[in-house]
Amino acid sequence: MNASKPEVVSPDLGIVVVAAGASRRFGCEKLSLVVAGKTVLEHAVTCLRQAYPQAPLVVVVRREQLPSWQSRFPYAQVVAGGDFRQDSVRRGVEALKLPPQGLVVIHDGARPFVPVRDVQAVVAAAQEVGAAILVAPVADTLKEVDTQGQVVATVPRERLVRSLTPQAFRRSLLEEAWQGAEGRTWTDEAALLEALGHPVKTVPGDAGNLKVTYPEDVRLLRGLFPPSFRVGQGIDVHPFAPGRKLILAGVEIPWELGLAGHSDADVVLHAVTDALLGACGAGDIGEHFPPTDPRWAGVSSDVFVRFALKQAAQAGWELTHCDVTVLLEKPRLSPYRQAMVENLAALLGLTPSVVNVKATTTEGMGFVGRREGVVALAVVSLVGS
Ligand code: MG
Repeated sequence: MNASKPEVVSPDLGIVVVAAGASRRFGCEKLSLVVAGKTVLEHAVTCLRQAYPQAPLVVVVRREQLPSWQSRFPYAQVVAGGDFRQDSVRRGVEALKLPPQGLVVIHDGARPFVPVRDVQAVVAAAQEVGAAILVAPVADTLKEVDTQGQVVATVPRERLVRSLTPQAFRRSLLEEAWQGAEGRTWTDEAALLEALGHPVKTVPGDAGNLKVTYPEDVRLLRGLFPPSFRVGQGIDVHPFAPGRKLILAGVEIPWELGLAGHSDADVVLHAVTDALLGACGAGDIGEHFPPTDPRWAGVSSDVFVRFALKQAAQAGWELTHCDVTVLLEKPRLSPYRQAMVENLAALLGLTPSVVNVKATTTEGMGFVGRREGVVALAVVSLVGS
């Protein structure tokens, strides 16, 4: 820890991340949405934890979601929230069991991006005056409108700021405010303290600290995180058999033997399918297309690749590259290599320059060397979209 910026150590400081809202304006469960490899809520919790790794931390979630979130935050207490945000905050603060002079840092679980320096700055301000919030300037001109949508007035914005989180409060002050406000509702704890006449210090924060409220916010949010990458690998083996076609990467190769298998036995497309499924954590080809299922008998293997591409797209991944190695003793693949690349590229929706197919023998060794079968290995790269 930097000596010039001493961390307030537990038990004097505790963190509450509030995530018990119903995501009504968003339309689906926004806190579970994955951005750059983590859910929105995991990003929010991580930001606070990075600022104070040793501080006790409580995550307040909806009761029915307790089991799923508990396993994601093994270092935190995960507790059930109440009907209103203020009830959830209170449950979180009570679970922390801080001494009266302790500082509670309250953060909204739908704010997945807050710099460590902002968290520490708001804590430093609250240590001075007992209550502090992060704020950002209002950049747009503000208009007051009537119920018909007509402009009534331009609102001067010089003295207006947007209220962000985290907000930090001395615990005794919060308790006092709660006692004085029984039966009332408030949108955040700072509003409650203001209403009771207690000074609340504002601290300028990063304008990128946005609250995920509407689906379009996710697009902005994705721009705040570095792009994420995935690599998937797949391998498949099929034995040679008489009376079968030899199909590799969708290209029929004239040869005295083909490959045995339930489908068309395209070992290359099977390896590519597994690489794609692997990259997006979606299991393997055998799980989705069991060889016991008559629907896949003799089927062209591009069906499997299309399915895997769809899985990747649904998980937010876009394929950017594919590299395949085929291990076989005979026949020589070089006359068909270009056709295989072009066919695979078209199937994957990629330009041929980012698709590669190569072949090697095993110098006569092993089952490949004995011409018993073919091995295909595939590697794919994907970027998070
Ligand atoms: Mg196979």
